[in-house]
Amino acid sequence: MTRAATFLLALAAAAAMVAGCSGTAGADRPTVVVTTNILGDVTHNIVGDDIDVRVLMPPGADPHSFQISAAQAARIESADLLISNGLGLEEGIAHTVQAARSEGVPILEVAPQVNPIPFDTHGDSAALDPHFWTDPDRVAAATESIRDAVVRHVPGVDRAAIDDRADAYVDRISDLTTAMTALFDSIPAESRRLVTNHHVFGYFAERFGFEVIGAVVPSGTTLASPSSADLAELSEAVRTSGVGAIFVDSSQPSKLADVLAKESGERVEVIELFTESLGDAGSGASSYLEMMETNATRITEGLK
Ligand SMILES: [Zn+2]
Repeated sequence: MTRAATFLLALAAAAAMVAGCSGTAGADRPTVVVTTNILGDVTHNIVGDDIDVRVLMPPGADPHSFQISAAQAARIESADLLISNGLGLEEGIAHTVQAARSEGVPILEVAPQVNPIPFDTHGDSAALDPHFWTDPDRVAAATESIRDAVVRHVPGVDRAAIDDRADAYVDRISDLTTAMTALFDSIPAESRRLVTNHHVFGYFAERFGFEVIGAVVPSGTTLASPSSADLAELSEAVRTSGVGAIFVDSSQPSKLADVLAKESGERVEVIELFTESLGDAGSGASSYLEMMETNATRITEGLK
């Protein structure tokens, strides 16, 4: 082999090593793990492409029952920050979140940061409601909590860029609430009543002036199931209040709500909303903002 050829080979080897190194650096990008896809979307909007955002729950997942694989659990322990909804929402992965905490992974539990309210289940529960995202104002507050946690815990972030993106996202949320309020103004006051499949709309009702008449599953979690007495009581409430529609989550079977609609009267309609989770691309709920717009339109059409 000539000297020139040896030199060229050495150059090629050096180039390969450089390429290999940059590949390794890619694997060391700062990483934020987010449990729910709704908070995953909010986080993406804040951090852009600067940080690797890994969202555990796929579109359509039920956050109450979702469970994690061993590979996902391992990823959490090397994250720079773990963002969870908290207040007991993620029952299926509570153990994994606890394990990450013991490993020293910084954790932001968002719901406790945004002025949570108790469940309104006939006053028999003092437990705080984790479903804060049904109130966009609280998602704006959550945006600020997430921004602050990222700046504090994730190394090497571009703080000015993160601040700008968070501000822009809060502005879009503000436009959303204006649009939702305008839609709901067309619903007569006496029709602003909601029956849902579980207690998911406490924050929404408070923010936009609705009354929650009841839930098919009279609980704050989809993991509970109703007794026949619960159904009879709710059926009576639906009949006497003249509610025109029952809203069910797109990830939940609507069989019970169908039975209830039949028992309560012919004109009760069962309408699907995206309440717990984003949907797939093209579902009308591929982002948080789109999900809320779709829900607001369907609620308005169902009640007015
Ligand atoms: Zn729920």
